[in-house]
Formats: sequence, structure tokens, C-alpha cells
Amino acid sequence: MTAISKILIANRGEIALRVLRACKELGIATVAVHSTADANAMHVRLADESVCIGPPPSRDSYLNIHQIVAACEITGADAVHPGYGFLSENAKFADILDAHGITFIGPTAEHIRLMGDKITAKKTAVELGIPVVPGSDGEVLPENALEIARQIGFPVLIKATAGGGGRGMKVAKTEEELEEAVSTARSEALAAFGNDAVYMEKYLGKPRHIEVQVVGDGFGNAIHLGERDCSLQRRHQKVWEEANSPALNVEQRMNIGQICADAMKKMKYRGAGTIEFLYENGEFFFIEMNTRLQVEHPITEAITGIDLVHEQIRVASGAGLSVTQDQVVFSGHAIECRINAEDPRTFVPSPGTITHFHAPGGLGVRVDSGVYAGYKIPPYYDSLIGKLIVHGRTRVECMMRLRRVLDEFVVDGIKTTLPLFQDLVSNQDIANGDYDIHWLENYLAETSAT
Ligand code: ADP
Repeated sequence: MTAISKILIANRGEIALRVLRACKELGIATVAVHSTADANAMHVRLADESVCIGPPPSRDSYLNIHQIVAACEITGADAVHPGYGFLSENAKFADILDAHGITFIGPTAEHIRLMGDKITAKKTAVELGIPVVPGSDGEVLPENALEIARQIGFPVLIKATAGGGGRGMKVAKTEEELEEAVSTARSEALAAFGNDAVYMEKYLGKPRHIEVQVVGDGFGNAIHLGERDCSLQRRHQKVWEEANSPALNVEQRMNIGQICADAMKKMKYRGAGTIEFLYENGEFFFIEMNTRLQVEHPITEAITGIDLVHEQIRVASGAGLSVTQDQVVFSGHAIECRINAEDPRTFVPSPGTITHFHAPGGLGVRVDSGVYAGYKIPPYYDSLIGKLIVHGRTRVECMMRLRRVLDEFVVDGIKTTLPLFQDLVSNQDIANGDYDIHWLENYLAETSAT
């Protein structure tokens, strides 16, 4: 076991604060790092120590591996928590920390690499017994695209091997559309990831996005913590997430959960991870695995009572999981709303100074946010300013509570997406849990036309 006594949090915003809270509870000292634009951020104020690692652009600060390693050496931090985004799925970063004798709170560099390349990830999923979307065996080139698409059957989706954030993804409904879809996907992939390799999948018409939370100890023990339904998306970005999925029954939940936990045992996976699926007509199809904590992890924490960051820190130090699968108890229903500093209709970012801020409270309410009244949102980073997580004994109770809580939330001085959630919480399809991955975009298109 490697005891961890001081953790450097290589992130910003709500997730830096989230990790800091877990460290405090465990009696572990904290180091915040920040760009010059974030000198007044809450994670910097609350950490035991802080180090400025560079100017505002992420590549010069939050993505600057040398500066982060130097900050560890200066402060004597013996571990790094990467949060999500930034360096959280960067295998080179994990290797460099290892070479410096610093613990990376996450999986091995080998597992990050394996899952980071989507073709390899899919092949690995098949070997581990996880069901995948029918598609090409490997890379698709312009010259073999038509033959492969005919085998799969139209419509098909062209996806970037190095993909992320929905970039480099193009649908071809017919043979005529194929050539252009392949070439656009390849050039988008090259621009976004510096790698033009693409592969092909059957395009599913009306799936839900359902993902399974797993945690492994690195020695062959692994558990699942149920699923999250993240079908409500805009431009492939999740907006509203819930646990459990309104579409699954207990048997389906435990089946897919067990398949994922067994796969992680075989891999000897260490840390928290999420296995993402599309779900259609009762079938699950693997799309990718994220080898890190996810933005929406708190809804899983709400229904299981398990602190995922505590577990991440435990397994990184070799201490093993705090629970066995049999001890995991699922209780009630939770919903997360991602509150962005954006216009709720156009989604144009709205940086600026928050003049008033009142976070709601009461039973079953959690607000994870790094902002406060007087805080000036810098324009350099993504627009997530907070997450509202509501828990109830049933989905109906959870929705009732969410409606009350949204009325109570005050963020003045900037535009936020709070009004969008007020609309959604009163919508009949949402109340029925009747939605797929296209529902939100269709809804936004219809409501803006009227
Ligand atoms: P990224 O890593 O770019 O986010 P994913 O593979 O996770 O890519 O897919 C992102 C989203 O794109 C999914 O949540 C889903 O909405 C859509 N998608 C991906 N694969 C398919 C598919 N085969 N058929 C239909 N939609 C898909």
C-alpha cells in the first residue's frame, strides 16, 4: 500500500472543489493549481496550498504537464487527482507521474491507452464479453467504405478513432451520402485530434444513452454501481442525467451491471470508470469507456450513498474497495441538471460577474458549484458553473422536489440554463420518462419555432 498524504488537484471549477471535499473528509492535505485567470476561484481559496501554473489558455496551464509535475515537487504532493477533462485520460501524464514516483489517481496508463483508441476499445469490449454496436472490424478507408457499409446496412455512422465530444462523427443514410460523410469525418477528425482514422457503425435510430458506473481495485475485484440515463443531450453533450434509467427494470439493471463488473474483473481495472452504451429495443450496444470520474457521477452517489472520490483514492493507494457488490444498496431516484453560463435558448456562452447567488437546499438536494456572488466567470473555459442534484424515494418524488428547487435557485448577473430545466421538469414526455437521444434537440427545434 502507498499511503497518500497530500493530493494535488489538477483541475478547476466545481470538480476541483468536489475532489477537495473528499480529501478533507479523508484527512488528506490538498494543493490547488490554477491559471492566472482563476486566482480567485473557490478551489484555490479552500485548498491548503495553491500554485499558479500559467496563463489562462488551458494548454499553458491546466494541460501543462511540466508545470503540474513541478507544482507536485515544490509542494511535496504524493498523488494527483485529475478530475474530468484536461489530463484525466492522458496516458502520457500517468506515465510521467509514475516516473516521478507520484501516484496518479486513476487507472494504469495501459488501460487509459486501451480505451482511448475507440477501435481497440471496441475489440477489447468484445473480448471481455460486452455487447457492441455492429460495425467495421477496424479502420475504414475511402476505398473500402462502400463494401463495409453494405455489409453493415444503411444508415451508417462514421466515427473518429480518437473521438470525443461528438467531433468527427457523420451519418450516411444512403450510398450516395457515404463518400462525403467519410471524407468530412476524416478531415474533422484530423483537425480535432491530429489523427484522421475513422471507423463505421450501424446508426441506431432512436436509442437511449445508458452508462454503467464501475469501480475496480486493480487486483481483480470490481463492482458496478448501476446505470445512469444520459439520453437528454444537445450536440452530443449531456444536459440532464438520471439514475436509475426510467427504461430499465431491476433484472435488466443487474444483468448489464454484472456484465460490466465481470469485464472489469477480467481486466484487473483500477479506479472508477464508465461503460457507455446505446440502448434500443431491449438491447445494449457498447460505444465507449471513459477511464475517469464523470461529470454526472453524483447521481450514482445519491442512489448508493457511496462517495466515488473516496473509492478512487482508496484504490489508488492499494487499499481496495470499501464495499462488495452484495453491500451495494440502490435507493430511490436522482436527477442531475447541468447549469451552464449560457443563454437558455441559443446556448451562446454568457461569461461575466455573478451579482447574486442563492443555492437551494433542503432534503435530498446537492449543489456542486465553484461560483459565488461577486465571482467573475472567465471566458476561457467551458461554461458549466454548477450541477444541481436532487434525490427522492421515487422518480415522482424526485421530480416534485426538482420543481421546487429550481424555483429557489437564484443566479443573477449572467444568463444560465436554469429556465430550460424549469421547462423540462414540467414536460409530459419527461414526466413519463419517454425520451431518446434525439428528444431534446427536437424539443428545442419545435419550441424555438413557436
Ligand atoms: P464521443 O466520444 O465523441 O462523445 P460517443 O461514441 O460517446 O462519442 O458517442 C456520443 C453520442 O453520439 C452518443 O451518446 C449518441 O448520442 C451518438 N452516437 C454514437 N454512436 C452512435 C450510433 N452507432 N448510432 C446512433 N447514435 C450514436
